[in-house]
Amino acid sequence: MARLMADCRRFPSESNCSLVIIGDEDEVLRAASEHAVSVHGHEDTPELRDEVRGMLEPADAYTPG
Ligand SMILES: [Zn+2]
Repeated sequence: MARLMADCRRFPSESNCSLVIIGDEDEVLRAASEHAVSVHGHEDTPELRDEVRGMLEPADAYTPG
């Protein structure tokens, strides 16, 4: 199974966060949601998970910088 990526730079935020999370979908979804809650002050809701799921990309689409 191809790994997925959540790139925080694509998340609208004011903190210029550069975090990239790569892993299986479940792992990325959980880690990215926890990150959004703890760092960006989002509420952990089903809507947040949907939003995170919507920004997942194939990990091989990652480009540094
Ligand atoms: Zn972030």
